[in-house]
Amino acid sequence: MSIRAHIDALRKSVPQDVTIVAVSKFHPSAMIREAYDSGQRTFGESRVQELVTKQQELPEDIQWHFIGGLQRNKVKQIAPFVSLIHSLDSERLLLEIEKQGATNDRIIPCLIQLHVAEEETKSGFSPDECRQFLAKGVWRECSHVQIAGVMGMATFTENKTQLRTEFRLLKSLFEEFKTTYFTKEPDFKEISMGMSGDYTIAIEEGSTMVRLGTIIFGER
Ligand SMILES: *Cc1c(COP(=O)(O)O)cnc(C)c1O
Repeated sequence: MSIRAHIDALRKSVPQDVTIVAVSKFHPSAMIREAYDSGQRTFGESRVQELVTKQQELPEDIQWHFIGGLQRNKVKQIAPFVSLIHSLDSERLLLEIEKQGATNDRIIPCLIQLHVAEEETKSGFSPDECRQFLAKGVWRECSHVQIAGVMGMATFTENKTQLRTEFRLLKSLFEEFKTTYFTKEPDFKEISMGMSGDYTIAIEEGSTMVRLGTIIFGER
């Protein structure tokens, strides 16, 4: 199947109110162009240099999401154009995004990345670290950062019960934070969860944004 056929099929199966982020990391710009010509406008990349190169080569109306681990010293390279950073996972990173947002006279939307998987390796705040981060309130003074929701990755497993449990945890943390801190902020609305192997379960559990690579572009 072509990239276009995969995108068309996803448009039919994914609910309209769930955003599809086409994860194009490690794939060449020509493949992104093919997806773009099929109407896809939101793409996710996980490496800063690769994202910057592709952003320069490809159409201006693409919304670029950054979905990987983000080093503070690289924020300045993506700050002028990035549409959403999915991987806010520390106060120091928040302060750097705030600084670069101010420099570029932009408000940069970010998702708080939460660690909900069983594996030790996945990054993100633990639920308690995130509670402390929000309670401390430094984010309230960051007028160039807009906290737009949460992001998480489930364990790499075939066990559907476990996947469901982890997605439910992420959704319940979203609800907790919404109720405690963001009741008056309609922009706090995204739950970025679900990848090629688990997105149908993620959608059943309340995902608003799925990050799909392999199912659109094939193996990396
Ligand atoms: C690579 C990646 C994806 C896409 O994974 P697929 O299994 O290819 O759909 C989604 N989210 C993050 C954070 C990634 O790094």
